[in-house]
Amino acid sequence: MELVDTHCHLFYDDLKNDLDIVLNRAQELGVNRFICVGTNMEDSRECLGLAERYENIYASVGVHPHDAKDAPEDYLDQIADLITFPKMIALGEIGLDYFRNISEPDIQQNVFREQLTLAQRLQKPVIFHNRDADADVLKILSEFPDVTGVAHCFSSDLKTAKTFIDLGFYISFSGNLTYKNSHLPDVAKELPLEKLLVETDSPYLSPVPYRGKPNEPGRTRFVAEKLAEIHGVTLQIIAEKTTTNAESLFSL
Ligand SMILES: [Zn+2]
Ligand SMILES: [Zn+2]
Repeated sequence: MELVDTHCHLFYDDLKNDLDIVLNRAQELGVNRFICVGTNMEDSRECLGLAERYENIYASVGVHPHDAKDAPEDYLDQIADLITFPKMIALGEIGLDYFRNISEPDIQQNVFREQLTLAQRLQKPVIFHNRDADADVLKILSEFPDVTGVAHCFSSDLKTAKTFIDLGFYISFSGNLTYKNSHLPDVAKELPLEKLLVETDSPYLSPVPYRGKPNEPGRTRFVAEKLAEIHGVTLQIIAEKTTTNAESLFSL
């Protein structure tokens, strides 16, 4: 069995300091490829460094909505430079987060639009983050009809999921799919497996039974198991479908 953790932040100390052990544990759970996602210029470079050291790690480069206010003036040039490396497979994470509003909404929107413009020009998929910002994310994405990518750590409602799919995006579920009383299983049940991806968002969002502890990429397995249960299919089928989807979206 092969699973891809399509979204993890391996540059944080919890993961980085024991990376070989963490990746071995993932292999034992059937998770054998990892997309290390940047949130600013510094950690995007760290992602690339890891991708160059480990064959089964890929990287993405982007400015997260929290980091939007601190984006260096030439960040778009820096992204365009970094994305020329073959293992830099996507632009992200980008998006809007109105839950925490660490950057002002108008700054977040600007930086989101600018990065989508770049993704459109470079024809690269995007990994987007959306928290409490459904309407504005949908509005902005629809300005870029040629851009594809993934709604990472999806947590909105079914209607929003279907609209993202109509716009050409995949939906990625993380550990919060396994949380008690979550509305997400009802959403996931209605979505075609051809459009789904799995991720951990490590070190965040540990799935049940590890909720509250630092997460790690191997736990993609528990998200996939939950998806199998929801769709009434085997884990093997979920692994095959989500891996094919990841390979196709990110040209792995
Ligand atoms: Zn995110
Ligand atoms: Zn993330």
